Amino acid sequence: MPKNERAKVTIRCNVCGERFTLRGRRNPEGKVETGFKQCLCNNDRHFMVTEES
Ligand SMILES: [Zn+2]
Repeated sequence: MPKNERAKVTIRCNVCGERFTLRGRRNPEGKVETGFKQCLCNNDRHFMVTEES
């Protein structure tokens, strides 16, 4: 299994409902890093993150 496996994630803002589809890399801990910082509504912590296969 490659160290930096590519992953696609959908991030949904729990505040305004906006959705973002991003590509990221899975780090060794199994967490996907996308570089996503915050939503258009300035929410930066309340998200639902779903990994696409
Ligand atoms: Zn939002």
